[in-house]
Amino acid sequence: MKDTVYIDGSLGEGGGQVLRTSLALSMITGKSFEIKNIRAKRKKPGLLRQHLTCVKAAAEISSAEIQGAELGSLNLWFTPGKVKSGEYTFKVGSAGSAMLVFQTVLPVLMLKEEESVIHLEGGTHNPMAPPYHFIEESFAPLLKKMAVNISGELKRWGFYPAGGGQVTFKVSGRQNLLPLTLLERGEEVSKSAKAYSANLTPEITEAEASYIKSKLDWSDISTESQCHSVGPGNVIMAQKKYENITELFCEFGEKGVRAPKVAQKLVSKIKKYISSSAPVGEYLADQLLLPMALAKSGSFCCTGLSLHTKTNIQVIKSFLNVNFLLKESQNNWIVSVE
Ligand code: AMP
Repeated sequence: MKDTVYIDGSLGEGGGQVLRTSLALSMITGKSFEIKNIRAKRKKPGLLRQHLTCVKAAAEISSAEIQGAELGSLNLWFTPGKVKSGEYTFKVGSAGSAMLVFQTVLPVLMLKEEESVIHLEGGTHNPMAPPYHFIEESFAPLLKKMAVNISGELKRWGFYPAGGGQVTFKVSGRQNLLPLTLLERGEEVSKSAKAYSANLTPEITEAEASYIKSKLDWSDISTESQCHSVGPGNVIMAQKKYENITELFCEFGEKGVRAPKVAQKLVSKIKKYISSSAPVGEYLADQLLLPMALAKSGSFCCTGLSLHTKTNIQVIKSFLNVNFLLKESQNNWIVSVE
């Protein structure tokens, strides 16, 4: 009998990350798991299309046996088999984030030396998920330091509600990841912001860029209003690049929200990060935990401990025998794995 891990999906933040981390670690450890109360703390609990795609993707990669893999399901049983790297296509079939499908399958595939090619369809730039550019510019370069190679190609943007984005990632790595130590930002290298839109009037991105120019003394602020996408969409992304890390901030345009308001929210996110000295922002913090646990060593300094971060630590500890040390230091937190 294989070990079975029991996960309560209402744990902590009670969202999709509890499920995705469980899928990733089940494939890696070979342990079966049973999860109840999937996404219990979300407005629409249970498996939505995006989460179902994550489950099916994990099942395909690891020849898993699954029960409960249906839309709306609150419970899932997952028993992984042999993991195979290779070429895969996963389609969300809605505007749900395809980047979160990538977040599910990456950890197991990056432990293999053979390259995997993953074609994804769905949302590429969604609120409450890593946008494609975050993975490319912020996350992948850090994993590179751990001996993981990720290269991506954005073929078509996917925005809510039409979706239809297309991305291909190539991934290879190794069984023994190198530990990451990320305690300081290092010297600033560059800073830039760009307002993007698809199938909308260019006045929107222009208004966003001009608001940012009025608030930040940055020379590289630009617009692109012709993104290739099936539906309309608008996102502003800003990048702060330092010697040791690149952080990426984003804010999405919404119907009924004026462009300067969208830009204002982005500017406050950037200013908050600038006012801290920690290299790792809120989102990178919860996403670096799993690679660090797999490397069995490493540490980073982050701006704070979000509920996502605390919850992900708990889920990781349900599968792996690792200890995370959390230490407050001058309004920042140092997270280390022992
Ligand atoms: P959940 O809410 O449980 O589905 O998890 C959302 C995931 O998306 C977490 O890994 C977050 O770190 C990530 N995420 C949310 N917003 C952003 C963002 N703006 N940039 C990068 N990652 C994000």
